[in-house]
Amino acid sequence: MAKITVDADTCVGCGLCEQTCPEVFKVESDGIAHVKSQSCSSCNVSDLVDQCPVSAIKIG
Ligand code: SF4
Repeated sequence: MAKITVDADTCVGCGLCEQTCPEVFKVESDGIAHVKSQSCSSCNVSDLVDQCPVSAIKIG
């Protein structure tokens, strides 16, 4: 299965990914989104790849 990652150098910590899919993403105290889980039961994570304003989310 493709691996979900967040590019820490690119992420601006806007929180959109966490709002949309808190099962997978969490913005930690370092101000960057971290991947908590590689799958989500309630949403399609690949949609978020396009929604991240700085294209920091990668699946592959
Ligand atoms: S949507 Fe993108 S920029 Fe915003 S917190 Fe998530 S990974 Fe970072």
